[in-house]
Amino acid sequence: RESKGKLPRYPGLERWQLIEKMGDGAFSNVYKARDTQGQYGEVAIKVVRKFEMNSTQGDEHLHADFKKVPKAAERANILKEVQIMRQLDHPNIVKLIDFSEARQYYYIILELCPGGELFHQIVRLTYFSENLSRHVIVQVAKALEYLHEQAGVVHRDIKPENLLFYPTPFIPTRNPKPKGPEDEDKADEGEFIKGVGSGGIGTIKIADFGLSKVIWDSQTMTPCGTVGYTAPEIVKDERYSKSVDMWALGCVLYTLLCGFPPFYDESIQTLTEKVARGQYTFLSPWWDDISKSAQDLVSHLLTVDPEKRYDIKQFLNHPWIREADETTYAAA
Ligand code: ADP
Ligand code: MG
Repeated sequence: RESKGKLPRYPGLERWQLIEKMGDGAFSNVYKARDTQGQYGEVAIKVVRKFEMNSTQGDEHLHADFKKVPKAAERANILKEVQIMRQLDHPNIVKLIDFSEARQYYYIILELCPGGELFHQIVRLTYFSENLSRHVIVQVAKALEYLHEQAGVVHRDIKPENLLFYPTPFIPTRNPKPKGPEDEDKADEGEFIKGVGSGGIGTIKIADFGLSKVIWDSQTMTPCGTVGYTAPEIVKDERYSKSVDMWALGCVLYTLLCGFPPFYDESIQTLTEKVARGQYTFLSPWWDDISKSAQDLVSHLLTVDPEKRYDIKQFLNHPWIREADETTYAAA
C-alpha cells in the first residue's frame, strides 16, 4: 500500500480526497477516497488512463508524448461499463456514484467495499466452511438473478477478484480443522468458523462490469437490436451468454469450498484443453468431508453443455441452497 504522501493528484478530482490505493491493473488504479463535500462519505475511485504507449516499431526516434495513442476501443468499453452500471440497482452489486473525465483520465466513482476482494479472504482462510461458502455464493447468485432475469445483463468476468464485500464486525480468522498436508501447520490454531448466522463475512458485491454486455432490452424484454428481425442464433446466443456466468459461479463455489480452482495447469494450452473437456475432479483428501449435495450442485454448474448447465433459477432451487438453515444466509 502506498503512503499518503505518494498519492497522485488528478485534475478534475478535487472534490475527492484520496486516502489510499486499493487496487491496480494495467490501465486502471483504484483508490479509496473521501468526499470533501460530505455527501457520500468514503468511496472508491477507479481511475482509467486514456492513453497508452504505442508500441509500434519504427517510431523509436519520437518523443514519448507522440507515441501515446488514444484507445478508441478502450473508450467505448469504459463508456459501456458506466452505461451498464448506471442502470443497475441491487444490494449485491457495487453502485455507480458518478462518472467524469479529464484530458488524460476517466474517473468512475463507486460505492466503497471496505472489505476488499473475496479472493484475499480465501487466501487468508485457505478455504470456507460449507455454511460460509453458501452465505457468500447465495449473495452472488442473487446479484446474477437480478442481472440475468431483470436487467438483461451478463457480467462475463465473475471471479473472486471481482467479488468485493462489506465486512461485518466479526470475521472468522481460523479454519475448523486441517484438510490436507498443506494445512497441517494451521491445525493448532484450532478456532472455528462460526458467526455465519450473525452475518458471515458480510455483504458480497459484484464489481467490474468492464466485460459485461447487455443481452436484451430490460424495458421490452426483447433481444437487443431490431425486434422481429433477430436471428435464432442470436436468441440462442443470449441464453448461452448467461450460462457463462453460471460456469464461473461454479468455479467460484468450487474454489470457496476447497481453496483451489477446479481447473489449473501451468501450461495455458493444457489448461484450455482441460476446461474445454470439463476435466476436473473432487480431489481427495480436500473434498472428502464436503457434502455430496454441495458436490452435486458444483457438478451441475461445471457442465460443458450450456443447454444442460444449471441456470440461475435451478441453482437457487437446489437442495444445498434451499435446505440450509435460514439463519445461514441471512443478509448481513
Ligand atoms: P479492472 O478492470 O482493472 O479489473 P476492477 O473494477 O476489477 O478493475 O478494480 C480492480 C480492483 O480494485 C478490484 O479487484 C478491487 O481490488 C479494487 N476495487 C474496485 N472497485 C472497488 C470498490 N468499489 N471498493 C473497494 N475496492 C475496489
Ligand atoms: Mg477486475
